[in-house]
Order: sequence, then structure tokens, then C-alpha cells
Amino acid sequence: TATAEQRSFEADVSRLLHMMVHSVYSDRDVFLRELISNAADACEKLRYEAIAQPELLGEEPKLAITIEADAEAGRLVIADNGIGMSRDEMVEALGTIARSGTRSFMERITAADGKDGAQLIGQFGVGFYSAFMVAAEVEVVSRRAGSDEAWAWSSDGKGEFTVAPVALADAPVRGTRVTLRLMDDAKTYAERRTLERIVKEQSGHVPVSIALVEKPGAEPATLADGAALWTRPKSEISKDEYADFYRSVAGQYDEPAATIHFRAEGRHEYTALVFVPGARPFDLFDADRKGRIKLYVKRVFITDEAELMPRYLRFVRGIVDTADLPLNVSREMIQNSPLLGAIKKGVTSRILSDLAKLAGQDAEVFARIWENFGAVIKEGLYEDFERRAQLLDLSRFRTTASGEGWRSLKDYVGALKENQTAIYYIVGDDAGRIANSPQLEGFRARGIEVLLLSDPVDSFWVSAAPDFEGKPFKSVTQGAADLGLVPLLDGAAAPSAETSEQVGALLASMKEALADEVADVRASDRLTESAVCLVASDQGPDRQFERLLNAAGR
Ligand code: ADP
Ligand code: MG
Repeated sequence: TATAEQRSFEADVSRLLHMMVHSVYSDRDVFLRELISNAADACEKLRYEAIAQPELLGEEPKLAITIEADAEAGRLVIADNGIGMSRDEMVEALGTIARSGTRSFMERITAADGKDGAQLIGQFGVGFYSAFMVAAEVEVVSRRAGSDEAWAWSSDGKGEFTVAPVALADAPVRGTRVTLRLMDDAKTYAERRTLERIVKEQSGHVPVSIALVEKPGAEPATLADGAALWTRPKSEISKDEYADFYRSVAGQYDEPAATIHFRAEGRHEYTALVFVPGARPFDLFDADRKGRIKLYVKRVFITDEAELMPRYLRFVRGIVDTADLPLNVSREMIQNSPLLGAIKKGVTSRILSDLAKLAGQDAEVFARIWENFGAVIKEGLYEDFERRAQLLDLSRFRTTASGEGWRSLKDYVGALKENQTAIYYIVGDDAGRIANSPQLEGFRARGIEVLLLSDPVDSFWVSAAPDFEGKPFKSVTQGAADLGLVPLLDGAAAPSAETSEQVGALLASMKEALADEVADVRASDRLTESAVCLVASDQGPDRQFERLLNAAGR
């Protein structure tokens, strides 16, 4: 028979809760967004399950979120009539840390000191547990759709929680009620003004309506209508509305750097509303981070695991809504759907062409996007052969001529020196070090611009030997750079005029002395001040790539 049971939180949860409660500097408003977003997720899950099992909706077909606030009692309730949780789901979801984002957040917070930790919480929200930033006690009563059991979970956030059965009469017909007993310094969260402000700021565009009830029995006031923003014409949507929507769909707190909203017609019909974030998400380089585009079919959320973006655009956030899939499509079927392939292609093309347009219209905004995401976009240079030219066009570089600015390859090719036939680059992991490399002396003396490549991804795409507008990429460390053909700048130090006989003799004796260390010793135009430098052979890998391969144990 069902009885109450007391349990301990997983150790990580206890640590997280401790941080939450003691981080007085963080932005506590985020708790409401987190609870509303859970309520909205639960409604969207039910909406999806009800396609196959309409009876789950029962007598309450309209999905909604209700906030009940009692300022005098310092009590706040966030209720939804979504999918709900069974007992086991509750224990699992509200006693452990499952979400991968939260886990990497915990790793970051453990590495950071207390003050940074507080900022991190504000930035990431970190889900349900953020309720304990404002509540001395949290009670969750839930009844899973279709179940005839209801359960209560409660905790003061101090290490333990209780689960107990609840009489159906005391439980919602379906879904979840989260009740917060607010701490004394957080009572404002039960006031209408505060709630209106936060919901508008953070949750105005969740896809489920949100109502506020101030007194039991009082008329509910609508805070958000749950309408799908993307179905409205572009011209009627303000910048603020787009930004609000971005924040709720992306779970971020910044402004989008670029907003791309379009409707594709013709062979496939779909609407896409996607954003390039204004800030770099903390787990951008996580190996198992997936693209987070939400797929809707006729405004019903289906999944955020359909791979709708190529990996090199995995920072893009937003939604795609199509009427061309049946509503009862299974998640497994979706992965293999040719329609999805077509959508992915179409959205990718549109994003790249809009970014190219933006680069032309507002170089500053584009430069910020490039600073945040350029290292990821460049992965496309070797992953997406079809679009390599387009991606090279979009790419920006630090070069020996760029200073703090960015150069495009068009800029580079437009400034080629007389007789220069290649695009020269140097790769290394330290931007400062490569800029001062002796390998660059001969290039400087001739005024030849060199790309300074210091992102880990650079070795990979550049060794796939691309060319740009017919000009090959060539490493300055690789083989005999044919620099002799490009004249020295006026006033540059010319290499001293030794006779070829003297040089030949020197090379021969050096080759003998270094026989076991190097393949060859050559005279070169690449240096003007340093005496020697190491280079890679023409055929072999670039020096930096060679180091990477060695480090990888190959
Ligand atoms: P996330 O939402 O990223 O999974 P949270 O900490 O916000 O992480 O929530 C943890 C889990 O608790 C959710 O994944 C969900 O399974 C469950 N949950 C929380 N709130 C609700 C709710 N209102 N209805 C149903 N399930 C919920
Ligand atoms: Mg959540």
C-alpha cells in the first residue's frame, strides 16, 4: 500500500541547493521562468501524447498554466494541466540531476569560487531547484494524465524530501501544482506587479496561455495568450517580441544577435523562426551538445531532437513548424524523414545567406557573431563540402594586416602582392606567439599578408586544402615558400649576398651534422632577421597539424 517516505537528495543536488540558497547576489527572478517553462513543457508533452491517445485530455481539453498568488500569506502556486508525474517520475526528476546542462553547470560551479557561482545561477537558471532561491518550502502535487493516483513531493531544500500519496479529491484533475512558501525577503513574488513584469519579460511567449489568479474564486487575468508568435506576419512583430520569444525558446537571457524568420512555400511548406544568440552558451564545445531547434507540426511541439541544423550551426536556436508531416508521426520516423533533410537544407541556406547579408550591412554586429561562433562555423569548412565556398566567403580572420579587426578572404585576395599566387597562413594555438613567429619575417619584408590561425579547428579545415577564388591556401611553415618572386618592400633588409658556393658548403656540413634529426637543410627567402627556422615538407602535414596528430598518439 502507498505510504509516505522520506528520502535524501543525491549529493550533487544537495550541493546545488546549498549554492542556490547562499547565492544572495544572483538574479532570483529566474526561478519563475524555470517553473513556467517546466509547466509549459508538461503541457506540450501532453498535447503530443494526446494525438495518439485523445482520451488523456478528458474533460479538460484546454491546456493552460495558472499562477495563484496570495501576497498576504506569502504563497505562490504554479499549476499546469499538462502530462503530470507518477511517483517514480517525481522521485527521479526532483531528487537527482539528470539534465546534461545542469551537470556541466555543476562542474563549472565547483571550479568557480562562490561569487562566480552566484552569477552562473543567474545566467543558467538551472531548473526546478531554483525554486529554493525564493522558497523556504516547496510542495509539488502531481497526477499523471490517465492515472488514478496522485502524489505529493515536499522539501525545505535542506537535504531531504518526502513523497506521500494524496487523495484524488485534493489533487488536480491532471498535471502538476507547485506551491512555494516564500521566504520573508521574497514575498514580492506573490505580488501582481512583480509577477506581471517577470512573466512579460521572461515567459511572454511560451506556447501555453498563462493566467494569474489573485484570490481564490477571483476572475483570472491573462498574462500571456500562448499564441504561436511565428504564425504572425513579420511586419507585425516588434523587436522586443522577437527577443522575448528568443529568451523563452532558447532559455538564454541575452538579446539575439540575428533573427531569421521566414516561410518556405512550394514543394515543402514550413515556417522557421531561428536566432543567432548574442552571447556564447557555456557548453558550446561540449561533444554531445546537440542542435536545439524545436520541431512543431501544425503548432504541436514534437521534439527538439530532430537534427535540423548541421553541427557547425549548433549554436542556432529556434523553431521550425511544418504542416507537411502527419501529427501522429513517431519520433523515430522523423529522424529518417526526407522532408526533414529538405528543411535542414533550406534553413541552413537561409541562415548562411542572411549572415552574408548582415556581414555586408552591419560589419560590427557580424564581427560579434564571428567572435562568438566563428570557431564553430569553421567546422563547416571540412564538414560541408558543398557549402565550402560560401562558408569561406563568410569567414573572417586575424591577419598580419588586420590589427584588432577582421579580414575576409575577399579583402585578402584584393590586396595580393605582385606575383603572389597563394593565400598564406600560419597555424598555432597561441595567437600572440604565431604573430611573432620568425617564419613570418620574409613575408613581412615583402608586405605579404598572412592569416593567423589559432583556433583548434583551423588545422583541420586548412589541411583539407581548400582554395578561394582559385588561390590555394599555403602554410608559411611548409616547404620552400616561393617568396623570391615577390619583391621586397623598400627599406626591408635584403638577405646578404653570399656566393652560392659558400652557401652550398654550409648546407652540406649542416646536413651531415643533423643527419638523424632533419630530412633536409635548405637556403630560403623566408627569413630576414633570424638565422634558421624549422619547416615541414611540402607533402607532409603542416607543422601544427603534425603536433596535433602526435598529441593524439598517431
Ligand atoms: P529540465 O526542465 O531541464 O528537465 P528541471 O530541473 O527544470 O530540468 O526539471 C526536471 C524534471 O522534472 C523535468 O524534466 C520534468 O521531468 C520534471 N518536471 C518538473 N516540473 C514539472 C511539471 N510541472 N510537470 C511535469 N514534470 C515536471
Ligand atoms: Mg526545466
